[in-house]
Amino acid sequence: MAVLKIAKFPEDEKILRDRCKPVVRMTNRTRALIDDMIETMYEAAGVGLAAPQVFVNQRLFVYDVGDGPDALINPEIIQAEGEELGTEGCLSIPRLQGDVLRSARLVVTGLNMRGRPVRIEAEEYLARVFQHEIDHLNGVLFTDKAVESSLHWLTDDEDAERKTEGRKRIRRRKAAPSVDAE
Ligand code: ZN
Repeated sequence: MAVLKIAKFPEDEKILRDRCKPVVRMTNRTRALIDDMIETMYEAAGVGLAAPQVFVNQRLFVYDVGDGPDALINPEIIQAEGEELGTEGCLSIPRLQGDVLRSARLVVTGLNMRGRPVRIEAEEYLARVFQHEIDHLNGVLFTDKAVESSLHWLTDDEDAERKTEGRKRIRRRKAAPSVDAE
C-alpha cells in the first residue's frame, strides 16, 4: 500500500472540478487503488476520500466513519429525505470548515470494495459523508454549498487536535477484533 498525493484546492482545481467517469470493470488496479486510497485517508486522518482527490477520474470513494474501511464504486443516491445542517471539512481544502445542509437519510447503491452490489441505508454522519464524497465525483466541493457565514479556518492547535482525534479513532478500531459477517 502507498500513501498518495492529495489534490488541493485551488492549485489542483482542474481535477477536483471534473465530472468523474463510471468504473467499467473492477480490476486488480481498482483494488490496489482502493487500498492506497484507504491508506491515504488514514494518513490524513480523514473519514472519506474520493478518487479525484488522488488525481483519478473514476466514480469511486473510500470511507470509514468508525466501522472499518469500505469503498463505494459507481454510487447512486436512489432515495433521500429530511434535512440536517452539520459541519464539514475536506482533505483537499485543509483546515477550512463550514456548515452544509444535507439530506438526513439516504439509500445509496453501488459496489463495495469487494466488487459486490450493495444497497446501504445511511443516516446522520454516514449520510453526510456519502453526500460529500458523491459531490466530489461530480466536481462539487463542500464550499459550494456551505453557509457562507459559517466558513472558518482552524488554527494550528485545532487542526492538530482534529488529527489526534482522527488517529485515536483509527488506533481504537485497529485494536478491535475484526468481525466479518459474511
Ligand atoms: Zn472532500
